[in-house]
Amino acid sequence: MRTLREIPALREALGDARRRGERIALVPTMGNLHDGHLALVAAARERAEVVIATIFVNPLQFGAGEDLEAYPRTLEEDQARLEAAGCDLLFAPDTTTVYPRGLAAQTRIVVPEVTDGLCGASRPGHFDGVSTVVGMLFNLVQPDLACFGEKDYQQLAVIRRMVADLHFPIEIVGVPIVRAEDGLALSSRNGYLSPEQRAIAPRLYATLCELREGLESGSAPSALLEQGRTRLEAAGFEPDYLELRAADLGPVTTVTREAVLLAAARLGTTRLIDNLTLTLPR
Ligand code: AMP
Repeated sequence: MRTLREIPALREALGDARRRGERIALVPTMGNLHDGHLALVAAARERAEVVIATIFVNPLQFGAGEDLEAYPRTLEEDQARLEAAGCDLLFAPDTTTVYPRGLAAQTRIVVPEVTDGLCGASRPGHFDGVSTVVGMLFNLVQPDLACFGEKDYQQLAVIRRMVADLHFPIEIVGVPIVRAEDGLALSSRNGYLSPEQRAIAPRLYATLCELREGLESGSAPSALLEQGRTRLEAAGFEPDYLELRAADLGPVTTVTREAVLLAAARLGTTRLIDNLTLTLPR
């Protein structure tokens, strides 16, 4: 696997592949790779001749007071994992390569509507940073397809909307959430948890599972969601949101069948997110 740091080298490597008529799959990440990221690489590997991962801790998607400085940077381990997973190329640029004029002067992509509420409400500007960097990576790499995790459910919806609205000729592949044995969704941020918090963390997924059971057997959402919040608080979480939305993130109506439960909650200073899709009864 070759690691590329600069845009001309990236373009050259990909130009060769494109001239050979090879399909290119992109896996954008912020590094500190775990089995969730590697599932994206595996999905990419199945679908394309050339798999390119990117590692870039994108300052544009971090708000003031978020963990940009503390975010784990583990390039050597990440390179070994990507290589073992069959990744062909890694693009790991510096911030000045991506944003040579600085963050304030950067042209941005703003996706409306689907960014409203949920993480969009608690992390203002976050999705503008995500769509801007992903749109830029799409232009740099010009992949045939790109793989994203369903763990970041709203992010995946934002990317799909951006691709549709800007007519990117790129197939977006959503990859199911990879979880630890106890149900906790794998995340680079799990490393911030103390042993005590790590023991509590699986309650987030457990609570979503309990709510799904209730919803699928016809209980009223509002009362159930209230109970869910109370349960999270009792376990030691500080819930940010716990919501039921239609699968496309629109509001749930009487005709909604495919739905998704989405949660974000803090354990101490660590913010965890998770979600679970379900089918509402008629
Ligand atoms: P990140 O490095 O956290 O920005 O994540 C990079 C990509 O990996 C995103 O598309 C995430 O949705 C995806 N991802 C992160 N954690 C998981 C997981 N546990 N299962 C599946 N995909 C994941």
